[in-house]
Amino acid sequence: MRYYSTRDTEKKYYSSPEAICKGLAPDGGLFVPAELPLISKKEIEAYCQYGYERIAAEILYKFFPELGKEEILEQCEQAYAYPNFDPTPAPVKVLGNTAVLELWHGPTCAFKDMALQIMPRLLAMSMKKCGETRTAHIVTATSGDTGKAAMEGFKDLEQTRITVYYPTDGVSETQKRQMATQEGSNVNVIAVRGNFDDAQSAVKAIFANDEIKKTAEENGEFLSSANSINIARLVPQVAYYVSAYIDLVKKGFIADGETIDISVPTGNFGDILAGWLAKKMGMPIGKLICASNRNRVLTDFFVTGVYDTRRPFFATTSPSMDILIASNLERLLCFNFGAEATAGFMKSLKKDGSFAVTPAQLDILEAEFGCSSCDDESTADVIKHVYEEFGYTIDTHTAAAFMGASGNKCLVVSTASPYKFAPAVAQALGMKETSHEALSKHTGTNIPAPLKDIYKKDIRFTRVVDKADIAASLYLQ
Ligand SMILES: *Cc1c(COP(=O)(O)O)cnc(C)c1O
Repeated sequence: MRYYSTRDTEKKYYSSPEAICKGLAPDGGLFVPAELPLISKKEIEAYCQYGYERIAAEILYKFFPELGKEEILEQCEQAYAYPNFDPTPAPVKVLGNTAVLELWHGPTCAFKDMALQIMPRLLAMSMKKCGETRTAHIVTATSGDTGKAAMEGFKDLEQTRITVYYPTDGVSETQKRQMATQEGSNVNVIAVRGNFDDAQSAVKAIFANDEIKKTAEENGEFLSSANSINIARLVPQVAYYVSAYIDLVKKGFIADGETIDISVPTGNFGDILAGWLAKKMGMPIGKLICASNRNRVLTDFFVTGVYDTRRPFFATTSPSMDILIASNLERLLCFNFGAEATAGFMKSLKKDGSFAVTPAQLDILEAEFGCSSCDDESTADVIKHVYEEFGYTIDTHTAAAFMGASGNKCLVVSTASPYKFAPAVAQALGMKETSHEALSKHTGTNIPAPLKDIYKKDIRFTRVVDKADIAASLYLQ
């Protein structure tokens, strides 16, 4: 399968193992497949007999055929197995006219596990294919969930190590604790004074810094990324849209072939882009609703066609969506408008902090995407309302997606366990005490096992740096 960079007008092609090993393209663009593979009706029928791990393997093989079908299946069987994941890794629940896809049954209780339990394995396979003997040093910025999920995926994996940067502002106490107590001999965690975009921009700059690359080289390493800029992070996410559709047909929520809208709580635009890819590959998906919080840069983009990051940044109760630069939007632009236009948009974004698509281009996007945004107050209202109406507890990110749910039958993507954001959820439910135990008692739900132990574990990482020192901190242990 051939991949090229979203900014490369000359279309230099890379194999899928090369694209996975590199993470980011040399020109700063993201890798996209030259042709999108399709899923036939017949294949969907066959998938009805498969468990999640096998559906995931089928999808991955379509994008990464060089890695081998049997080999991919073997890795998926290990990655999505119990007790790493609950016995059903991505269950759907039906609540009236809305169905919920729960993507938080993995080791860190957030949807990023769906990709990050398999992505390190895909990287290791790709390194073998490329004859890579150096250690992959994964450098990643996290708004809270990615870093933890990445470390869980990479911990003690041979020929890899990982450094995670997270912003001191805007990750929950639980998330901080999860990261500071991370186990594994090849992991490092550094807090950055600032917000997620500060951390992400600095990590992007690291990848463009030749000095640092040289230092990595001298250490027998090469730099790679686990952010959703790596194509091996994105593709595994297509699988749960396929499995959810099949499950909804099996449950009789929709008829076979009926289209369904999907509302996705969106930050970096990776999750929703995977849904769009599933649609383009042939899944009967209607509108994809891009649900944001008060940081509504994407909402405004889908309404006006102007992507403008020159705006205040808000720390909200849904911190994993507190993002002003949604990296994966670049892939959507490239798929729709080509690399030349995309290179122009990105140049303008870098220079002016904004770019605009033409009205005709906006029409194309609006035909497939809806959008919504909600502030902290409406987030809390939605949590309360869903609990009162259905006895179902949702986290703050999922609440944003409920807010965006269309009047039609809609699938809401639930990206985190309510326990990951227990204080905000408990407050929304009118509770005085906001601990995990109190939430469990109030809602009659169980505290997920992985969250139970973090307060017993030792703190291993305490380092905090200024954003100007991020690059220097990478090889300064
Ligand atoms: C990362 C994350 C999101 C946003 O997903 P993107 O792929 O970055 O758009 C939403 N909710 C939660 C809980 C997350 O961790």
